[in-house]
Amino acid sequence: MMKVIVIGAGHAGVAFADAMRRNGFAGELTMIDRLAGLPLERPPLSKAFLLAEDGEESSFALRASGWFADRQITLVTGRGVAGLDAGTRQVTLDDGGTLSYDRLVLATGATPRQLANTADMDGVFVLRDPDDARRLRTAARAARSALVIGGGYIGLEVAASLTKAGKMVTVIEAAPRLLARVASPPVSAFFATRHGDAGVDIITGAAMSEIRHDNGGFVGATLEDGRQIDADMLVVGIGVAPNTDLAAQADLAIANGIVTDGTMRTSRPDIYAIGDGAFDGSGAYGLRIESVHNAQEQAERAAASITGNDVPRRQVPWFWSDQYDVKLQSAGVLPANNTDLHHVQRAGRREGGFSVWSFADDDLVAVEAIGDPAAYVLGKTCLESGRAPRPVQLADAGFDLKSFVADKPVA
Ligand code: FAD
Repeated sequence: MMKVIVIGAGHAGVAFADAMRRNGFAGELTMIDRLAGLPLERPPLSKAFLLAEDGEESSFALRASGWFADRQITLVTGRGVAGLDAGTRQVTLDDGGTLSYDRLVLATGATPRQLANTADMDGVFVLRDPDDARRLRTAARAARSALVIGGGYIGLEVAASLTKAGKMVTVIEAAPRLLARVASPPVSAFFATRHGDAGVDIITGAAMSEIRHDNGGFVGATLEDGRQIDADMLVVGIGVAPNTDLAAQADLAIANGIVTDGTMRTSRPDIYAIGDGAFDGSGAYGLRIESVHNAQEQAERAAASITGNDVPRRQVPWFWSDQYDVKLQSAGVLPANNTDLHHVQRAGRREGGFSVWSFADDDLVAVEAIGDPAAYVLGKTCLESGRAPRPVQLADAGFDLKSFVADKPVA
C-alpha cells in the first residue's frame, strides 16, 4: 500500500490530505506537525483570535477533531521532523523515531523574520502560529501601548486588533507607504487614513536606529531622526522566510522557497512542496505566494498529480484582509516592483466602498476591492478570462461593468 507523508498540518497540509481522499487515494496518509493539538486556522491569529478568551479556540480549528480519523488520516502532532533522507525515503522525528514514505509532501510554511538583537528581549513578539498568538494576547492584556514594526497586512491587522482592545498603537514602516510590496498606492492611502482615524500613529519612511530595553525587557524604539517611541510591547511584522531546511537536506532545488513545477513536484519526483514554503516556478504566477487560497490551490494540484488525476488549471490568486470594520478583497498579483503600474479607482455601490484596478501597460494585473464585494467578483472574473475593460471605461462612473462582464462570457 502506498504511503504518503505530509510534513506540516497547516492550511496547505490539511487541504492536501482532504484533496487526497477526495481524489480517491486509499493508501496510508500520515500528517506530522511540530505544534501540539488540533491544527488551527492562521488568519484569525491577527484578528478574532487575538481578542478571544483563552478557552474559545475550538471555533478556529482547521477541521473538527473527528475529521482526521473519519478519513483514516494519521495525525501526529507535537512532533517535529528533524531529518529527511531522500535516498532511503525516510523522515526522522525529533524524538528519534523514523517513518518511511513513497511520496513526501513538504507543507512546512515559513518562519517570521526577527529584528536583529531582539531574539532574547522580553516583550517582543512575532506572529505566525497559535502559540505566538497566545503569547501576544497574554502580553497585550497587561499592556497599555504597543509598537508594531512593519506596515504589511499582518502588522496592520494586529494594529487594528490591539486598537480595538483599547491599546495605544504606533506602526513604523521603513517604506514610504504602508503595504508597499503588496497593495496599490490608493489602497495604502486608504488604510493609512483608516488607522489614523482609529488613533493609530503611523510613521512611514522610518529608519530604525535602536530598539531600547531595560534589563532585557523592551521599552521603546529610537528612529534615526531622533524620534523616540516608548511602548509596553513590540510586535515585529517584517515578513517571513520560507522553511527550506528539510528540502536542503534532500538537495532539492531552492530559490525563494522550494522550487516546484506546476504540479507542485520538486526537483525530486517523489517529493512535493506546497503552501508558503513553495516556489512554483512555472506559469504566469511563478512566485512564492503567502495566502490561504494559494495553499489550498497548490494542495489540490499536488493531490491530483500524486493520484494520477488531471491537475487542475492554475487559478488567479486571491486574498483578503480584515481591519476594523473594513474588508479588503484582492485578486491577481501586484508585481513587487509596482511603480510602473497604472491604477484606476472606481466607486462602489455601498457607501465608502471602492475598487482599484491596476494595469501594466494595457493588461489588468490586479483588482483590490474595499467594502465592494461586487467589484471584487467582477474583477476576478476579468482576470480569469483575460478580458478586461479599458482603463478609460473603468474611470467612467457611468460605465456598466456588470453588463460588460456578463454580456460577453469568457471563451
Ligand atoms: P502554515 O499554515 O504555517 O503551516 C505550516 C505548518 O508546518 C506549521 O503548522 C508548522 O508547525 C509545520 N512545520 C514546519 N516545519 C515543520 C517540521 N520540520 N516538522 C513538523 N512540522 C513542521 N492569508 C489570507 O489569505 N488571508 C488572511 O487574512 C491571512 N491572514 C494571516 C494572518 C496571520 C497572523 C498569518 C500568520 C497568516 C495569514 N495569512 C492570511 C497567510 C496564510 O495563513 C498562510 O498563507 C497559510 O497559513 C500558509 O499555509 P501553509 O500550510 O503553507 O503554512
